[in-house]
Amino acid sequence: MKATVWTGKNSVEVRDVPDPKILDPQDAIIDITSTAICGSDLHLLQGFVPTMQKGDILGHEFMGRVVEVGPEVTTLKVGDRVVVPFPIACGACWSCQHGFFAGCENTNPNSWMAEKLFGNTTAGVFGYSHLTGGYPGGQAEYARVPFADVNPIKVPDELSDEQVLFLSDILPTGYMGAEMCDIEPGDVVAVWGAGPVGQFAMLSAKLLGAERVIGIDRFDYRLAMARDKVGAETIDYEQQDVLEALREMTGGRGPDKVIDAVGMEAHSPRPDYAYDRAKQMLKLETDRPFALREAIMAVRNGGIVSVIGVYGGFIDKFPMGAVMNRGLQIRAGQCHVQRYMQPLLERIQAGEFDPSFVITHRMPLTEAPRGYELFHQKLDGCEKVVLSA
Ligand code: NAD
Ligand code: ZN
Ligand code: ZN
Repeated sequence: MKATVWTGKNSVEVRDVPDPKILDPQDAIIDITSTAICGSDLHLLQGFVPTMQKGDILGHEFMGRVVEVGPEVTTLKVGDRVVVPFPIACGACWSCQHGFFAGCENTNPNSWMAEKLFGNTTAGVFGYSHLTGGYPGGQAEYARVPFADVNPIKVPDELSDEQVLFLSDILPTGYMGAEMCDIEPGDVVAVWGAGPVGQFAMLSAKLLGAERVIGIDRFDYRLAMARDKVGAETIDYEQQDVLEALREMTGGRGPDKVIDAVGMEAHSPRPDYAYDRAKQMLKLETDRPFALREAIMAVRNGGIVSVIGVYGGFIDKFPMGAVMNRGLQIRAGQCHVQRYMQPLLERIQAGEFDPSFVITHRMPLTEAPRGYELFHQKLDGCEKVVLSA
């Protein structure tokens, strides 16, 4: 089959690789129809997530038809159309039983690596480095999906791939980012990053009752999407001082809740950019946390800081004084996608919203390298790339 593989820092190729096989009685093989490139893939592309190996198959946002099931699979049959969540959950461990699917204790065969870096293991993730299990990803023609009774969700034929594909990751992620904010009537929610994850965090904040949503980025086409499709107000951080602008927009108090939808590769026009970039290059810190620092400084006293942007390890100059003295709460996580798939599918089916608005580029799987380039460099108005396999 054809698959998108990581071939080194800043380099991906579509190559012929062996077809996946059933390895475990609870596996299913999916014939992939649509798959997407995520901001998290960019962290892998750049080599900021350790333990990638040349030849690893990328991709954790995918859907398609079941073409084969292992002998112990009971809920799926050949021909079912499914969307697959990015964290691989066993469904049976303490974390899965408590809804912390991204913290599944059984699906990461390299748990020792995660334990060393994070203190405890995290779930296996498709196409997301050996730290999360080294599972082949879904930017490919086929994928093996473990624990097939627990993970994929069946989707009805009347909804298009583009309407349901993002149930695999970014829609639940944006939703969880907003849900972690415990939004109350009247709340002002500010979101750093107007990428696809930020767009869905803004949309979800509105769905959950925020009175005002403010999106922050430097790409005007992305801010325009947030204004036009989500009804957000926006701040261009290259044109305005974000902290000043937010204070002005909120009567001096700051937004009630803030969401970091940027993560470890944040950019900044300020001098500290050079400091963090240099430290990241020298591996003296793993992540560049400008958006997170700014979000913490911006939120009102007693506010909530929700972190869905991905961080890999250790950061410098973390404003713990602000967190402690102003009584902030930090909530974070890789998304527990399995929690949100069914309820969000029902809302899409009911016509409450259509997540396909983020898609700006569609191309065949064989053009994945071009898709990575457009999405990474934010060229040609690129917001989200969908590959058809
Ligand atoms: P993206 O690269 O399209 O979007 C990131 C956006 O952040 C860009 O538009 C960029 O201009 C903006 N940005 C950079 N520096 C900024 C700053 N200082 N202030 C404000 N905006 C800034 O990526 P995406 O697909 O939207 O993903 C966003 C983040 O979410 C990534 O870190 C990704 O890894 C993470 N993610 C997390 C989960 C999860 O489960 N928690 C799931 C999916 C993606
Ligand atoms: Zn993702
Ligand atoms: Zn589990």
